Amino acid sequence: MFYTSGWVHVICGCMFCGKTDEMLRLLRRFSIAGRRVVLVKPRLDTRSDEVTVVSRSGARHRAVTVEGAAEIEAVVAEGDIVAVEEGQFFDEALPDVVERLADGGRQVLVTGLDRDFRGIPFGPMPRLMALADQVTKLTAICVVCGEPATRTQRLIDGVPAPADSPLIVIGGIGDETYEARCRLHHEVPAAASA
Ligand SMILES: [Zn+2]
Repeated sequence: MFYTSGWVHVICGCMFCGKTDEMLRLLRRFSIAGRRVVLVKPRLDTRSDEVTVVSRSGARHRAVTVEGAAEIEAVVAEGDIVAVEEGQFFDEALPDVVERLADGGRQVLVTGLDRDFRGIPFGPMPRLMALADQVTKLTAICVVCGEPATRTQRLIDGVPAPADSPLIVIGGIGDETYEARCRLHHEVPAAASA
């Protein structure tokens, strides 16, 4: 189904829930339909302007990196379809930018983590989800019990990371890994430095 007026679709969930695969699946359909797709992601740890988004299943799409939400409108001028990866890492201006793009007739897709590793709504995602025309919330599988997982477990050197460990880690702190976990098995110990 393609829409002729603007539309905002947020695809969210915890890590390993398949957000990027779902977005790339939808972008493939838009491309086949002859729509011009522009995919943007926050620059974070890369200096490159052009990168490739690769999903866990190996699907890929060329992307443009931007410093912040304010840069998005300039780089997507040529696109009918605007896709935004890692929405949680953008600043609070992202929901307004997305609304303006949709008001201008564009289809906008945003993926992002709905919660951070502590289980708290992440960055601009909660407001984006409220403003969206459509929200797809995906689940992963809990590595402990096999039930549907909605939380991202951060582990540092194999043990649950305390609530006061940094929200965004670039380059790693110790041996940092992530798992998908259910509500019951998601662990966030109180601040280590208390
Ligand atoms: Zn579980």
